[in-house]
Amino acid sequence: MKKLTWGMIGGGEGSQIGPAHRLGALADGNFTLTAGALDADGPRGKAYAERLGVAPDRAYGDWREMLAGERDRPDKLDLVTVATPNATHFEITKAFLNAGFNVLCEKPMTMTVEEGEEIVRIAEASGRICAVNYCYSAYPMVREMRAMVHRGDLGAIRTVVTNFSHGHHAAGDDADNPRVRWRYDPAMAGVSGQMADCGIHALHLASFITGDEVRTLSADFASTVPSRVLEDDAMVNFRMEGGTVGRLWSSTIAIGRMHGLDIQVFGELGGIRWASEQPNQVYYTRLNGRTEIIEKGEAGLTSEAQRLSRVAIAHPEGFPLAVANIYVDLAARIRGEASGDLPLAVDGLRSMAAVHAAVQSAGQNGAWVDARPPSLR
Ligand code: NAD
Repeated sequence: MKKLTWGMIGGGEGSQIGPAHRLGALADGNFTLTAGALDADGPRGKAYAERLGVAPDRAYGDWREMLAGERDRPDKLDLVTVATPNATHFEITKAFLNAGFNVLCEKPMTMTVEEGEEIVRIAEASGRICAVNYCYSAYPMVREMRAMVHRGDLGAIRTVVTNFSHGHHAAGDDADNPRVRWRYDPAMAGVSGQMADCGIHALHLASFITGDEVRTLSADFASTVPSRVLEDDAMVNFRMEGGTVGRLWSSTIAIGRMHGLDIQVFGELGGIRWASEQPNQVYYTRLNGRTEIIEKGEAGLTSEAQRLSRVAIAHPEGFPLAVANIYVDLAARIRGEASGDLPLAVDGLRSMAAVHAAVQSAGQNGAWVDARPPSLR
């Protein structure tokens, strides 16, 4: 099968998410890294792209240069990934969609709800794919949980409890750390710090697993490190369209919590839980029953969980392969084949509406506010 060509913006040397994209995109032989504008420092990004095997004439110092150089090529890139800091996502994603490229954008997709609505409109009008990297939804056992809920194993879902709380910004040394600094700078990160950075992954998982969407929410935000303008700790109560009650805690100052993403879903007939730090197991308890541990790779899992599992039972599998699963489904879509549940621009839009609703609620002493984007009310 012909390899697809892939370009990358951001994700330069030393970045947090860049390596996961390269491991993910290249894992299955679907894509070749063909072009890139990888770094805010142009010459550094160009040199790194060349070291990664990009031809010198397709290694760019700036994304606008890349757009100009790539848009009219007969061998047009099949996919462009946007893995820059948040403030640039909208502008870059919009420009590449408008120029006819398929785009995988990092989360949060935009800074405002209006920008999110615009990306959804442009993606629909252009017929291009605009996916958002909600990669936790591509873990095999997350797919298993989604299938269990849809099959009715848990009965009607009453509550979802999810956390994305870690302690990696507890030192409060933002000013000295360029990779932390932008996350609390409204000009770079937007209206929200931790909720937009990590909370939205937890919120997306709650929707993805239950198949329901957030309708209203009430939030309490705190900047526990006083120099931070944006919140580093958020507690959000939410209600879903189907009546499910949601609880979400997202924090960066929770010393001792490492990655810190976990989710529990409680229905009338049973409960399940999963944590990103033990991604191979789902704990399942039936009403009045004992707890069972469902293992990735065991017999009898759903076809989605089997399809997205890459190594045999009990072998560790994690984040880069979850990102790889996003790229597998992107490749299938680009080739016009059937693909699994790919997080799309509409999911990015819903997240932005929830983030802005949380900011509004936190500013009104936790008042309950509508969390849906205007176009989806
Ligand atoms: P980072 O600060 O570690 O790296 C950002 C990279 O982008 C750097 O290489 C920087 O030089 C480059 N860059 C900045 N501006 C650029 C520009 N205008 N053109 C080209 N390159 C530019 O940040 P990160 O942690 O890698 O985060 C990047 C994005 O990925 C953020 O939006 C973040 O929210 C998202 N992210 C997503 C996940 C996930 O699980 N999906 C995880 C981590 C980060």
